[in-house]
Amino acid sequence: MTRQGDTLIQIEGGKMNDQAENQKDPLSYPGQALSQEISPEVDRRTFLMRSALIGATAVILGQPVSAEERAAKAAAGTPPKLDPALNVVKKGKGPVMTTLDEFYKVGPGPSSSHTIGPMRITYDFYQRCTKLPADKLAKATALKVHLFGSLSATGKGHGTERAALAGVVGKEPATVDPAFLDGLRDKPDQSFPVKLGDKSVEVSLKDIIYDAQKGDWPHPNTMTCKLLAGKDLLLEQEYYSVGGGFIEWKGYTPPKKNPPKYPFSTMKELRQHAEKNNLSIAQVVLANEMTIAGRSEEEIYAFIDKITNAMIAAVKSGLNAPEDDVLPGPIKLHSKAATVLKRAMNDQFETDRAIGVVSAWALAASEENARGHLVITAPTGGSAGVMPALVYGLSEVRKLPAEKIRHGMLAAAAIGYLCKHNATLSAAEGGCQAEIGVASAMSAALLTTAYGASPRVVENAAESALEHHLGMTCDPVAGFVQVPCIERCAFGAVKAWIAYTIATNEIESRHRVDLDATIAAMAQTAKEMNSRYKETSEAGLAVSVTLC
Ligand code: SF4
Repeated sequence: MTRQGDTLIQIEGGKMNDQAENQKDPLSYPGQALSQEISPEVDRRTFLMRSALIGATAVILGQPVSAEERAAKAAAGTPPKLDPALNVVKKGKGPVMTTLDEFYKVGPGPSSSHTIGPMRITYDFYQRCTKLPADKLAKATALKVHLFGSLSATGKGHGTERAALAGVVGKEPATVDPAFLDGLRDKPDQSFPVKLGDKSVEVSLKDIIYDAQKGDWPHPNTMTCKLLAGKDLLLEQEYYSVGGGFIEWKGYTPPKKNPPKYPFSTMKELRQHAEKNNLSIAQVVLANEMTIAGRSEEEIYAFIDKITNAMIAAVKSGLNAPEDDVLPGPIKLHSKAATVLKRAMNDQFETDRAIGVVSAWALAASEENARGHLVITAPTGGSAGVMPALVYGLSEVRKLPAEKIRHGMLAAAAIGYLCKHNATLSAAEGGCQAEIGVASAMSAALLTTAYGASPRVVENAAESALEHHLGMTCDPVAGFVQVPCIERCAFGAVKAWIAYTIATNEIESRHRVDLDATIAAMAQTAKEMNSRYKETSEAGLAVSVTLC
């Protein structure tokens, strides 16, 4: 029971139930003062203004109107208002077809779009070159790679030129030795022979060209690769590093795959499959993975185990780095994961200890990313500290069975797939909300699934984590994935834990915002965000922080 003014209002389970009181005073119950249901076809601001006006008129006239009536009146006659520009990268209209091995990729840091993607691109181009007829290859004299847009603006801080050169000489992200990339950084004048049939062409970092930063390309991360015979072109291909290590090229069509068992392109559809078939979100994703990729459950679990082991290794390696190590680059940023862990463990308050250690695990993996060591895109390199922190905590500290972690990884992937399908994973398109925001949402799904929550709670947790990253810009200082990125991973991990805690403790049916709405909001925000805040290092912290 509580008292509000002179009116006694009954509260049960957090919801007021005295309808008679509410009928008398439409403003006494906040849930009635603002109508709850907003039609998806109605602009929210217009709706709220109309609703408030109708409510106020009713009070003045002494004729109370229920919330439901107000909602109906407010919506009546309002034309559907949809943003025609609300289409960031959603080109494929069918169901989600992404598979785990496309999504979780092992590769060198610091950036999936600016390091792993460019390396995959030049490796792909190298493969294409090797397939040219022998008489063409015999004429080859040079290989050139041009970087445009965001790749040109911030590539130096991401080691893009070293990654691109590694791909040209036939190295793949998952197997490249980070020492090779470090060697290029320390001795940039090295050149390497590239074998093309009977011919060999020498390449060096001089062949990776930082080209125009502004231009009209299909994607802000554009590259062109050329095989030359003197001034003549033997082969040229335009590529796009579209985020999360995914690559496309001019004329790209997605590879043909088997149809999924449970087709979905929205969270609503995914949850309906789960609820109708009495499955978890993870089981739906597993069934789809088996049909789309034609893999057995054992093969899928073996792949997930490989990824989780790599995540755990990244955290361990980061924690084992010398305390107060200095990370590469002009910021001269000291690492802090080991120090934060050591001090947090000694904290007198249990809650502070928990937040401190989760942060330290995220800092550890993120610092590994900054060192250019191997990390896992979940969904990107910049956000590669978020999920590993939670995987490490669940596996190594709480000792959850592998089965629960595997299911968590499947549910997390589903959230990443939906964000990619209906918005973007690329900071160059959508800012940091598309990286750390998505990583945090995926991690919230991981936690809720690992602890056996219902599909609705999994959705609620993911939604909550993403919602509280909306609008986050990408402004890496000096173009290096360090400030704000490393600490941001710690915040993403802790926010995922908050989302898990709220979602598993609230009444699930009362969670007001659905994940699809939040992903749509992320897409719209991405579209309308000033491009200077999209991984260009032209604004925000990148200009307000002074390096001395
Ligand atoms: S600010 Fe965020 S999106 Fe930008 S590079 Fe850093 S982690 Fe990635």
